[in-house]
Amino acid sequence: MQNKPVALITGANQGIGLQIAKELAAKDFTVLVGSRDYARGDEAAKTVDGDAHALQLDVTDQASIAAAAERVRNEFGRLDVLINNAAISNTGLRPGIPIEEYAKSTRPSTVSLDEMRAVFETNVFGVVAVTQAMLPLLRESPAARIVNVSSGVGSLTRNSDLAYPYRPIFGPVYPASKTALNAVTLAMAIELESTRIKVNAACPGFTKTNLNNYTGTQTVEEGAREPVRLALLGSDGPNGTFSNADGPLPW
Ligand code: NAP
Repeated sequence: MQNKPVALITGANQGIGLQIAKELAAKDFTVLVGSRDYARGDEAAKTVDGDAHALQLDVTDQASIAAAAERVRNEFGRLDVLINNAAISNTGLRPGIPIEEYAKSTRPSTVSLDEMRAVFETNVFGVVAVTQAMLPLLRESPAARIVNVSSGVGSLTRNSDLAYPYRPIFGPVYPASKTALNAVTLAMAIELESTRIKVNAACPGFTKTNLNNYTGTQTVEEGAREPVRLALLGSDGPNGTFSNADGPLPW
């Protein structure tokens, strides 16, 4: 087993995930750049200043998840931080479609169940599957941290407020997948509260990435801030919270 702590970030071949990998590498972690396409993960890992390795990991593929967990155990012998970052906003059937138009075509009354299932498969079930596979390693760590990268658009409290600006686009696909992810985060935190593992959800904020066709207003450095803070929590840090860089968010 190596001495350096090890962090695995899913979907780290681009966007906020890659930035999180860079920042944890700078904090002296060995970082595993999760990528469903190994070659793209390898390219991304080469841009990280520090100890970075690509790890083939498709969060919707149980065989890929099991192989990744085995590789982490065999090659690194430990896992201290798991960042469940991989997500999709839609299945890409209509690339480049503006968010408002997508929202209109995915109302609860009309949404394609295939679209909804595919997004939940990555954003919700993928997180549970990867976490289950990595938990045996995380339980062996002296102070493991799990960060689920969620979104404020999934907040039921905010979306119940008539004044919330994103309320008109609250829908059953991406926003509801993040609501479900929040529920899963809290359930994980409750199950693990008597262990040394802390589980929290972070909203990066509206960040310029592929997920929103680069229409976000924040940089990836800004987007990575809260997930990185939660990855580095001390033993006195919180468990079972939902926050962004400005502070706590309502569930
Ligand atoms: P991004 O640049 O599109 O990155 C998403 C990453 O997830 C990509 O690396 C993508 O891989 C990967 N991914 C998708 N499906 C996967 C799968 N089945 N297995 C493994 N990896 C998969 O988007 P981002 O904005 O950085 O998103 C990162 C996180 O922040 C997500 O959880 C997102 O919901 C959250 N978030 C983003 C914003 C924002 O404004 N950007 C706001 C709130 C929350 P490929 O490159 O192969 O597609």
